[in-house]
Amino acid sequence: MKTQDKQKRFLLPEDEIPTAWYNIAADMPNKPLPLINPQTKEPLKAEDLYPLFSHAAADQELNQTDRFIPIPEPVRELYKNYRSTPLVRAYGLEKALGTPAHIYFKNESVSPVGSHKLNSALAQAYYCKEEGVTNVTTETGAGQWGAALSYATKAFGLELAVYMVKISYEQKPYRRSIMQTFGAQVIASPSMSTKAGRKILTEHPNYQGSLGTAISEAVELAMQTPNCKYALGSVLNHVSLHQTVIGLEAEKQMAMAGEYPDVIIACFGGGSNFSGISYPFMRHVFSGEKKTRFIAAEPASCPKLTRGVFQYDYGDEAGYTPMMPMFTLGHNFAPANIHAGGLRYHGAGTIISQLLKDGYLKGEDIPQIESFNAGELFAQAEGIIPAPESCHAIAATIREALKAKKEGKEEVILFNLSGHGLIDMTAYDQFHAGNLIDYSLPDEEIKRTTDSLEKII
Ligand SMILES: *Cc1c(COP(=O)(O)O)cnc(C)c1O
Repeated sequence: MKTQDKQKRFLLPEDEIPTAWYNIAADMPNKPLPLINPQTKEPLKAEDLYPLFSHAAADQELNQTDRFIPIPEPVRELYKNYRSTPLVRAYGLEKALGTPAHIYFKNESVSPVGSHKLNSALAQAYYCKEEGVTNVTTETGAGQWGAALSYATKAFGLELAVYMVKISYEQKPYRRSIMQTFGAQVIASPSMSTKAGRKILTEHPNYQGSLGTAISEAVELAMQTPNCKYALGSVLNHVSLHQTVIGLEAEKQMAMAGEYPDVIIACFGGGSNFSGISYPFMRHVFSGEKKTRFIAAEPASCPKLTRGVFQYDYGDEAGYTPMMPMFTLGHNFAPANIHAGGLRYHGAGTIISQLLKDGYLKGEDIPQIESFNAGELFAQAEGIIPAPESCHAIAATIREALKAKKEGKEEVILFNLSGHGLIDMTAYDQFHAGNLIDYSLPDEEIKRTTDSLEKII
């Protein structure tokens, strides 16, 4: 059969859009260690999270019994504006690489805000509205999460304040404009508006910010504002839960294509898009039916999965959050100013960390320049400009496809295209100008920020 006779894009009819998310915690062979209260060192209860998050999100965070959790109808209605997202066979990329591998990608960049982040933003905003909350705070790195939550809160009639990591605020002014267009208030972090921000600015006046610091600021504001909740765009279990709509769709779409992935790849910041595409497939590995491999592509300059330690750590810089058992570089780790802002986070979520410990996935480190080479090749082959974060998944996919070529294997690869890069062209300009560098991260640096962690495990 000639290439042009083959189907390239697979979409689901509306009534096939999932009606429930998949909760992997119910099926995991080893459950994650509990979150703990930093003061008492006691395991955390959902009630402990109620002051900060919507009750529904807090309950989902600790739910280890319900395999499927219904998607509320108003959320599913908004999903229909852009879901299903296409599953695409990347014939162009296969040809450019001369690989016998079959490469598929799930195109989350088609969401109205350009990334997968909207899948959880809509759910979190909905639960806040249902519970009578009026104001929401959050942080954002590259601005993708902030943009998604700005639209989602507006859709449900809530006010939003976003702390945006300063380096991204400056590098990506259009993401700020997008958030403001959706009606959100945007503050560069660290800022003087919170205790956490003032403390770090006093100590390091030129600090360019990190997700850890921005989270501290957003949490602090939420705790001080009446009727206000905080929403997080990654790392936590309930966020990954909402993202499983990606993998549940992909499972049906791969069946339409008549194939099953041998390997699934996604980039890794806090783990939400990786979890989203992986977890629904991973349940068949737990049950022994499948042998699918999973690869999480992280930046070489922020290598928590391959070089981090497994220890209890805070989710934020100031230590306001519960302590979580995670692969981490330490909450004081200051990542290099790479352009993949969404991947500059010090730790991984508790479920993913347990799964990594148990050998269900593998981390792979991608140097910055390799990621942009991969992104550019993909853009030229497929006509879509990938987000700098997604470029890491593409680089790992290319490594895998070239290995398949060497071995003459018709391997089936599925990767998640987490977002488009149309608001990230400054990064591509820097790449073309030869200004990007590969940051090397000495072991001593990692040792310094991980040694200071309390040894609870
Ligand atoms: C935020 C973001 C990421 C990283 O976050 P995860 O929670 O690891 O998915 C990756 N890609 C894009 C486009 C993003 O916006």
